[in-house]
Amino acid sequence: MILEFLKKQRRRRLRSRLFPKKWLTLVQRHVVFFNKLPGSDRFELLGHIQVFLAEKRFEGCGGFEITDEVRVTIAAQACLLLLHRETDYFPGLVTVLVYPLTYMVQQDHQIGPHVWEEGTVRRLGETGRRMGSLVLSWGAVKHGAADPADGKNVVLHEFAHQLDYENGAADGVPGLATREQQLAWSEIMSSEFASLRAAEETGIPTLLDTYGATDPVEFFAVSVEAFFEQPRALRDRHPRLYEELQKYFQQDPVEYSAERSSGEV
Ligand SMILES: [Zn+2]
Repeated sequence: MILEFLKKQRRRRLRSRLFPKKWLTLVQRHVVFFNKLPGSDRFELLGHIQVFLAEKRFEGCGGFEITDEVRVTIAAQACLLLLHRETDYFPGLVTVLVYPLTYMVQQDHQIGPHVWEEGTVRRLGETGRRMGSLVLSWGAVKHGAADPADGKNVVLHEFAHQLDYENGAADGVPGLATREQQLAWSEIMSSEFASLRAAEETGIPTLLDTYGATDPVEFFAVSVEAFFEQPRALRDRHPRLYEELQKYFQQDPVEYSAERSSGEV
């Protein structure tokens, strides 16, 4: 109890610190959505960035050097997921590992029914419930920050997985306060997941990345990317999914999105 109190007090102090001017310039320059946020959200986000950067460790991998630009660009995007909510700042996460570009991991992949091939695959990011860390490719992070409307954002994706773990399981369900919310969530998510699966199997074009058809965990992460990057399209085509995410995040990204309207090319 007392530890919880001290933690909250420390975070309050961190949030009220003056945000370094150099960091602000970096956020404004590299994180495109930031300049579109309402003023009060911008202010709140900067406070969360202070807490995030004070609490999380960064490590460069593959010869990559961690700079303020790297730390601030990752933190700003991750903290978008925390706005308007009482959160514990991704409690399971200790270290953010950053590679320069894509990185290779040893992984078997399926090349036919019952046929698996050993090999290496390229990755842009990953995290896991028991890892305590989250891995990102700087190339993908920068690209995600520069284009906030292409539906892809590796930081939002990986940190959505961290939110998923907050209820103690990797199951595509983040920490929801009430039983009613949990029931509504699972009803809507499973029906949306089933339709993405069906669309993938039949080859129907989808707004959601079909990587989300892998399992409910990836479905949640992919939905979060679409919610923040293509909110108008998501609201039009998947109104119930949009509404459920809106209730959870307590945000309406339509209001500040850089999404091109359907008439524009
Ligand atoms: Zn994922």
